[in-house]
Amino acid sequence: MAADSSQARRILENLRRGFIDQLPMRLAAIEQAWIDCYMASDPAPALYELTRLAHSLRGSATTYGLLALGDVAAQLENDLRPWLASETVPDPLARAELDALVARMREVVHALPELPPESGSEENATTATRALVYILEDDVAQSRWLRAQLGHFGYQAEVFDKPAELLAQVARQRPDACVLDIIIGADEQAGIALGHDLHRDSPKLPLIYASVRDDIDARLGAVRAGGQAYVTKPINLLGLLEELDRVSGHLMEAPYRILVVEDDASLARYYGALLRDAGMETRTLSEPLRILDALAEFSPDLLLMDVYMPDCTGAELARVIRQHAVYGALPIVFLSAEDDKDMQYAALRHGGDDFLTKPVNARALIRAVGIRAQRTRLLNRMMVCDAMTGLLNHGRIKEILIGEVGRARRANTSLSIAMLDLDHFKSINDRFGHAAGDRVIKSLVRLLRQRLRGSDLVGRYGGEEFLVILPDCQRDAAWHLIDGIRARFARIAHCGDGPNQVFSASLSAGLAEFPLVDTAENLLLAADNALYEAKRQGRDRTC
Ligand code: GH3
Ligand code: MG
Ligand code: MG
Ligand code: MG
Repeated sequence: MAADSSQARRILENLRRGFIDQLPMRLAAIEQAWIDCYMASDPAPALYELTRLAHSLRGSATTYGLLALGDVAAQLENDLRPWLASETVPDPLARAELDALVARMREVVHALPELPPESGSEENATTATRALVYILEDDVAQSRWLRAQLGHFGYQAEVFDKPAELLAQVARQRPDACVLDIIIGADEQAGIALGHDLHRDSPKLPLIYASVRDDIDARLGAVRAGGQAYVTKPINLLGLLEELDRVSGHLMEAPYRILVVEDDASLARYYGALLRDAGMETRTLSEPLRILDALAEFSPDLLLMDVYMPDCTGAELARVIRQHAVYGALPIVFLSAEDDKDMQYAALRHGGDDFLTKPVNARALIRAVGIRAQRTRLLNRMMVCDAMTGLLNHGRIKEILIGEVGRARRANTSLSIAMLDLDHFKSINDRFGHAAGDRVIKSLVRLLRQRLRGSDLVGRYGGEEFLVILPDCQRDAAWHLIDGIRARFARIAHCGDGPNQVFSASLSAGLAEFPLVDTAENLLLAADNALYEAKRQGRDRTC
């Protein structure tokens, strides 16, 4: 999902307010450090602190568009560098200049215009909502089916059989995507005409065409009417869902996890807010020396790290991280106001993957972070995931279960696991074809991804057997969740390989709970026994 620039502006505006509110405090800290340089017996710590404060002020002031203040801070930082390097108190001439700079800084801060009152209440930008889809379809049976099926997979669909009504509704509430049937009643071009209207009014609204026609004229007409995808009827549900995910940006995948290491709390919040707004999950760390704990706890897909920090530099921290083989491939993107090329190369040489210069452009940040996080995910996935479903493979999910049981034991919390197995799957393959069987597996995987929490883990334990780990979840809650998935799965309509073959499938599930059952191995045994019991009692149930 690209960052909506108006939302990015709103976030920036809020943080800018916070920054401006804190300016008098920052100024006081700078003035105090300036006094300390002359009062302390050893000037080095105060000089260091003063330079750091100037550096940090320069970075944030520029980020928030306070360029005059950024300039004064930059000049102060530059003028201090030689004294910092020699660890000596500035001589009288330099002292007069530095005095003037600090005074100038105070003037600039006092001259900042009064902020207008805050507008409106803050909307929650991260609330996960169901994606909304409008469907143009005049076949009632077809549209009911589609609405119900899409509903199972997290899409709220509204169906219209008259183009004018759909058009009017888009003006009232904009959906995430539209699926347009081309032929409506006797009108062979109704969907195309509507598409032109929609595309004219809202050029960014994703349009998908659905039609029994599969000729080049029809497809070309759809492209010219703003179509981003084209599906043929009868509609292959999984195919349509994939197109919907793609065009609406409604990703079922867990968000990328980004750890932001930045000593300036206000900047850290800014980066975090921008990335969260782009759909990523972020954690910020302002004490760089706690990095190893943060990595182990949060296991990020990418590290976004400041180069200059109080206790150690970003380059040093990168070296420490690279000493640990498990983090060998973790991408590190450095951030700094530093325009010293040598420093940048040093950071890159010590294991950084990219360098962004402050003030960082919001789009550039999201792009740089998104692309790299995606690549890490892909690489990790190839190593530990099953190719067909993208789920954790047998070996990996077992390893993770051992880890999670250990974690639950230490934290004194509960944990549930569920073993899921498709019912009579051999006969589904026999009757509807192996490809149809594969689609049944994939639709279960989609359902699991959509219904489980972000912290839950799923692995493909065997061909048509799945292991779900529910950390911090007691038996009753686990039963509700898994049995809900079971019930919903049974209502999905699958298409066979033969003409007009539609069928349903079911699954059985067995649960086990820690600490009632006390080791990973015994949990697996207990869940397997419960699964066997579910099969014995007649299948399509949770035990
Ligand atoms: P039960 O209800 O007792 O679980 O019956 P079942 O037929 O599901 O059980 P069984 O273990 O005898 O058969 C599992 C079948 O699943 C056998 C295998 O061909 C099929 N299968 C395993 N993996 C895949 C796959 O990736 N794709 C397809 N299409 N079939 C698979
Ligand atoms: Mg810093
Ligand atoms: Mg089975
Ligand atoms: Mg089986």
